Amino acid sequence: MPTPVHEQEEKQYFSILQWIAERGIVSEKGEALDFYNHPFLLDILTDWNPKIVVKACAQVGKSVTFTLKTLFAVKYLRFNVIYTFPTDDDVKEFVSSKVNKILQANHADFSGMDTDSIERKEISDRFIFFKGTVSKTAAISNSADLVIHDEASRSDQPTLTTYKSRLKASQYKGRWLFSNPTTEKDLLDQEWKKSDQKEWTVECPACHVKQTMVWPDSVDIVAKTFQCRLCKAALSDDVRRYGEWVAQNPGSDISGYHLSHLIAPKISAAEIIEDSEGDQEYFNNFVLGEPYNPGDFSVSRQTILDIWTPKDIRTPNTYIGVDVGNVKWYTVWSDKGVIKTGKFTKWDDLDELIRFYKPKGGVIDAMPDNTMAKYYVDTYDFMQMSFFKENADNPQTLVWYGEDTRKGIVYSHRDRILDRMLTDMVEAKFLIGVDSDRNFLEYIKHFETLRRIKETNAKGIERYVWSSTTGVDHLVFATLYGYLARMGAGAGVFWQEPSAADKPSVLGSDNTWDIRHAFRDANEGGYVENHD
Ligand SMILES: [Zn+2]
Repeated sequence: MPTPVHEQEEKQYFSILQWIAERGIVSEKGEALDFYNHPFLLDILTDWNPKIVVKACAQVGKSVTFTLKTLFAVKYLRFNVIYTFPTDDDVKEFVSSKVNKILQANHADFSGMDTDSIERKEISDRFIFFKGTVSKTAAISNSADLVIHDEASRSDQPTLTTYKSRLKASQYKGRWLFSNPTTEKDLLDQEWKKSDQKEWTVECPACHVKQTMVWPDSVDIVAKTFQCRLCKAALSDDVRRYGEWVAQNPGSDISGYHLSHLIAPKISAAEIIEDSEGDQEYFNNFVLGEPYNPGDFSVSRQTILDIWTPKDIRTPNTYIGVDVGNVKWYTVWSDKGVIKTGKFTKWDDLDELIRFYKPKGGVIDAMPDNTMAKYYVDTYDFMQMSFFKENADNPQTLVWYGEDTRKGIVYSHRDRILDRMLTDMVEAKFLIGVDSDRNFLEYIKHFETLRRIKETNAKGIERYVWSSTTGVDHLVFATLYGYLARMGAGAGVFWQEPSAADKPSVLGSDNTWDIRHAFRDANEGGYVENHD
């Protein structure tokens, strides 16, 4: 039997789920909310963290979720809310097609809220202002408890920042951002990176490994099914349905969620494969819920932590790479990857390293002064010196070797060989098995300064070059010389199609699941997580 109207109005709700269930709250189409096919929305709906960021694909119900939260917050939590869209036209479209329809479909709960005004809704002396970030009318000067930025990545970025000042008088100071991402480094991406970065995590019924759903590893392209990233067993829609949110960056005060079509039980693998064959910008932004920057490729701290292993990866063969400057930086490699990094100032120290590691191959920087490089090439059979050059005869060649009077020289195309090595790092084709000490932190720092920037030469031809934001990238080059040394000694996997054994994917190598944990444990007190 329905509750009499006068009692309904007195009832206060503290739980949004209880409110939805007891009052039969419906969507803008008048339908029951479909959590069966959108199970990942439940946690987002009930998350009252003042700082929320959702990096999302298209069409998975995020706008309705946030509209319901907003209406609940105004009516039951007595918040004043500012809700922004990129433009005033977007506001008009959203309020008439979504908000007003939800108000009408649930009129018993919102009888006091009129649908005439687009910009302003009011109930029990609390308001919601809807506003474009690009707007012909004056900015909203009211203070609010909660500012919501829908389509944050397509909004005017400086305006988003100014809305923070509207929260000063509030205790709650809520700021929720959500959007299909566009490129990196906008507000959404920055907040996402600072957040706890929750990813929907499912358990493989065959091998019981818990895992996030990623493109392309979680999809069997041939069978057109979802698959376990580890054992390749097929994952049913129910496996995807009964996942849970797991923070990838726990401890942050910003609650972050990443929505992609890969986690939506209603969306098939075949649909995703088809989308992947079309426009890549669309596929990344709207299907995967990821930013897309074709020229923007970098190696982050996480990239390096993902290939770091506490295990002993020494092999009988070793290789050495030396970057030359006032300070000399080196890496020592095994067939599996980097086993030692460091620096020295006295050349004797290099002879000592050579005596100790007995390398099979070595490459030393021939710049800025090749006197000492020559000495090492003459003294040690295995040693070669490196020059960067473009191969005029054969522009496709990345690495080639000097002959006759140029014997002992290894030439390479600087930016393309860096592309190759950094791609190998991203794809975990070699590991880093060094102690997680100060040297390793320095190592990470040098890589983090790398940026691939677009240059246009005198002929108007565009190309990407690697540059360091600080100029302190010596360990990148020490790594590159070691990489070249290993390749030159025939141990690299560069020249032939790698076999399964040569190609340790991040998942295949058994250091993946606890690596961040292991890293922190090994650095107790000496390592501070940097959220910036
Ligand atoms: Zn499995």
